[in-house]
Amino acid sequence: MGLFPYYSAVDLLYLKMVWAQVQTRRMINILTNIYTAMRNSIVTFPLPANEPVKSYLKGSPERVALEAELERQSNTVVDIPIIIGGKEIRTGDTGKVVCPHDHQHVLATYHKVGEKEIQMAIDAAMEAHKQWSETDWTVRAAIVLKCAELLATKYRPVLNAATMLGQSKNFYQAEIDSACETIDFFRYNVHYASKIYSMQPKDAPNCIDHTEFRPLEGFVLAVTPFNFASIASNLCMTPVLMGNVAIWKPSTTSLLSNYYLMQLYKEAGVPDGVVNFLPGSGALIGKVCTNSKWFAGIHFTGSTGTFNSLWQQAGANLGKYVSYPRLVGETGGKDFIFATPSADPKAVATAVFCGAFEFQGQKCSAASRMYCPKSIWPEVLAGVKAMAAEAKMGDVMDPRNFINAVIDEKSFDNISSYIEYAKQSPDAQIVMGGKCDKSVGYFVEPTVIETTDPHFKSMEEEIFGPVITVYPYDDDKVDEAVELCDTTSPYGLTGCVFGQDRLAVQKVADRLRYAAGNFYINDKPTGAVVGCQPFGGSRASGTNDKAGGEFNLIRWVIPRVIKETLVSPTDYRYGYIKEMM
Ligand code: NAD
Repeated sequence: MGLFPYYSAVDLLYLKMVWAQVQTRRMINILTNIYTAMRNSIVTFPLPANEPVKSYLKGSPERVALEAELERQSNTVVDIPIIIGGKEIRTGDTGKVVCPHDHQHVLATYHKVGEKEIQMAIDAAMEAHKQWSETDWTVRAAIVLKCAELLATKYRPVLNAATMLGQSKNFYQAEIDSACETIDFFRYNVHYASKIYSMQPKDAPNCIDHTEFRPLEGFVLAVTPFNFASIASNLCMTPVLMGNVAIWKPSTTSLLSNYYLMQLYKEAGVPDGVVNFLPGSGALIGKVCTNSKWFAGIHFTGSTGTFNSLWQQAGANLGKYVSYPRLVGETGGKDFIFATPSADPKAVATAVFCGAFEFQGQKCSAASRMYCPKSIWPEVLAGVKAMAAEAKMGDVMDPRNFINAVIDEKSFDNISSYIEYAKQSPDAQIVMGGKCDKSVGYFVEPTVIETTDPHFKSMEEEIFGPVITVYPYDDDKVDEAVELCDTTSPYGLTGCVFGQDRLAVQKVADRLRYAAGNFYINDKPTGAVVGCQPFGGSRASGTNDKAGGEFNLIRWVIPRVIKETLVSPTDYRYGYIKEMM
């Protein structure tokens, strides 16, 4: 009897035939994805290539198109509405969007939501959920891929210009963010979705088993940061690709690019109500959304403090929810460069300059502390100073400017306060930069603080600006310096190690295993590429669900496993009971 104690020999023969059919059918099912695509065709989404970064050389078609769009947007004041269920709503309670590098230049006015609009958005999202959650996933994928194609073509100059003007990025920084990374997120996520949907269990004898990846039962609240249009888009569109509906709370200081993203989604075919756009107070939106029984998840990127407060609100309201909400958040960092004594000083200097100062140090991955052997520190500093002397700072419209402005006055004042603190402290000195000027735009010079105290305030706290603090250590005290690097800050986002002695480098990398979710060897700690380095950190840096990878997508589905028995048993008795009767 063996495996099939309930059945007679004839039953078994029959079962073997059925089993053979099941195997054949299973193969067909896998090939045609019939559980997820209601069509008689094989739809595959292979691993895409990354969107090439355009050069923007003078006279190139992309440069011409971008400059024309910059001109257009510079001479326009957009009226940004709230968008709920596809309808534009204007409350009259408005705020202004300005250029950070020219704060008297108003780019847009925007309308803020009140409690009533937030509730309307929840209702609209839940209405849209009925259809979108049941839409064939290949159709959803087609819409997301259309977003990518529209952004690679028609919307490329629009998004890049809006990101340059509204978030103060130069040509290159806008291109790698609002064009390339955003496109990559769209395309790679479709591929990862197809991988997830094809993850199926094995069939038991006489059965067909499969997993249906249902969208969450409710809405996802996407709360997005100012610094990357790509992150803002990804936080909404990843859950949406998986069949969810989103309430999007964009950052007030990235509203222009974010509003154009909404236009892109609409043109690509994202149905009304699937993404609802709510400018306004994060605290209010967070409070109302986490109070709804349909709050099914939060997709967050921003500071650790904001995520912690949203998590606490979700915890306090737990009994109200239909399901346990998915809480996914990528938060702050205190990202490091660790140079070992065999490091190439020129390579370290370049990593400092690009890792700490590109986009004014406002990448979550930006290097903001460094441990450097005393023997090479003077040469590293000289290298950084030479680059700083050459690189220009100013308006984004002038392509010679490598450095632009920090995002707003609050941020400017915060960064300046750290520089001022260092100037006053006996434990630190400003060895490069240190000037701040907010008369026209929020400009902070690339700044290097050198300290004798490894626990100096700016070695421990996130500043989010173009400031790096360096602790030069004795060359024979690498182990102590590595210990400091691991234990000085609560974060664990990015970090890197430099050295030509690969064995020594490996020792440091091993010791710093939990210090960073994205770790680099002989490279700066910024610049993660979708598909190559899925991004996220742990400790106080977030839930590490890795944007740009399938780990993230899996958080936006709740699987249902279905077993279908082909020939149902009709006899309750075990074989040994049967033979005794
Ligand atoms: P932030 O926390 O100030 O704001 C993020 C978003 O939260 C914004 O939309 C804001 O309006 C909203 N918000 C603010 N207070 C809120 C509240 N009480 N309730 C609900 N929402 C609220 O962050 P930011 O200044 O936009 O971005 C900078 C931070 O983001 C840095 O700490 C940086 O390290 C982090 N960041 C992390 C990653 C990552 O992948 N780990 C990526 C980018 C940025």
